[in-house]
Amino acid sequence: MVEAAYRHHDLDWRYINCEVGPDKLADAVRGARAMGWAGFNCSLPNKVEVIQYLDGLGESAKIIGAVNCAVRRDDQFIGENTDGKGFLESLSEKIDPAGKSMVMFGAGGAARAIGVETALAGLTKITVVNRSVDRGQELTTLLREKTPTEVNFEQWNGEYRIPDGTDIVVNSTSIGLFPDIDARLALDMDSVTSNMLVADVIPNPPRTNLIQEAEAKGCTVIDGLGMLVNQGVIGIKYWTGIDVNPTVMRAKLEEIFAN
Ligand code: NDP
Repeated sequence: MVEAAYRHHDLDWRYINCEVGPDKLADAVRGARAMGWAGFNCSLPNKVEVIQYLDGLGESAKIIGAVNCAVRRDDQFIGENTDGKGFLESLSEKIDPAGKSMVMFGAGGAARAIGVETALAGLTKITVVNRSVDRGQELTTLLREKTPTEVNFEQWNGEYRIPDGTDIVVNSTSIGLFPDIDARLALDMDSVTSNMLVADVIPNPPRTNLIQEAEAKGCTVIDGLGMLVNQGVIGIKYWTGIDVNPTVMRAKLEEIFAN
């Protein structure tokens, strides 16, 4: 996806995938410094552990407590979190989040990133709905302490009904991710109405059951490819200073996931 953008814009850059376990993380970051890399992405399980090897954190990465994108600035590696920013970009293309109310399923890393960025963008209310109470309450407390948004927690047991007045519904759990593509959220679809925007973080497959059912109800939908593409666009901007074309990146991802 990233190299498709480099090729499209004739950028003489490379994006290299390396599998780095937690025991080699310190050496990997030292290596990136030694080789003069402009930065790197990191995925699970390294998103939290990597922080100790960096020189500083961006504002939202500090609150989220996780980094998926390191950026070299003045010879320092600064940790950013572009997952939530990528989601916010997709959301903002459809509606202005300011003053809106959101129900968010999940309380893991993706939910943390989305919750923090959307709260900082001015959502009025977030309801965190999560299966495990500990994780759900931990995220609720974090959002209450670090953002001005009103945040409630509800334990997810049984079919959840979306309250009237909700503007945005987000699945930020891993339900529906390949290969478990038939999985469904325990959600009463009768409570989902056409005035709601429904988003899913699952990029593979992008047309999850939730997206298909919400679309059939007439909702505006955002699939997980939007978030994935936009975090890539933001990362490339951080590293190269160039705004790349998201359409080229999305097309490449669709080609990859179709196979
Ligand atoms: P985590 O493991 O940190 O969190 C998983 C969350 O899903 C938890 O809240 C967990 O609840 C919940 N969950 C998992 N299975 C079930 C289930 N059967 N029933 C109810 N709740 C469930 O994962 P991440 O937050 O890092 O990632 C979540 C998803 O987001 C992944 O599928 C990933 O692919 C996607 N993602 C997409 C991105 C994109 O750019 N599109 C970027 C980042 C992530 P509990 O606390 O009860 O265990």
